[in-house]
Formats: sequence, C-alpha cells, structure tokens
Amino acid sequence: MRCPTCKKAVDATPANRYRPFCSERCRMVDLGTWAGEDYRVPGAAVEDREHPDDLKDKKKILH
Ligand SMILES: [Zn+2]
Repeated sequence: MRCPTCKKAVDATPANRYRPFCSERCRMVDLGTWAGEDYRVPGAAVEDREHPDDLKDKKKILH
C-alpha cells in the first residue's frame, strides 16, 4: 500500500490511524486539495441546509 499523497510505503495495519495515508500531514494535504477544488460547491449547499428557516424567509421575499 502506498500513500496517495507522497507515494511512500504505508503501514496498512489498524495501528496506522491515517490509512491510506502515511501520516496526518499527507491526509490533510489530500483533504485540502478536495476543499480547494471540487468540494467548494457542495460546501455551499451544506451551509444552506444549516439554516432552513433562513432559506424559507428568502423564498417568501422572492415570491
Ligand atoms: Zn504520505
């Protein structure tokens, strides 16, 4: 098993809590890539779901 971030050999046993990454740093780098690119739009949708009442009020104003 190799780390998707740095391609180093990874400890694939449950002792490695960062699997499939070799370290927390590599895991964060991978998540950071996500957050910076494709995940930006779904992130905005989650924000709307956190305030459903707010969203309703906006719709009332629009109609
Ligand atoms: Zn790594």
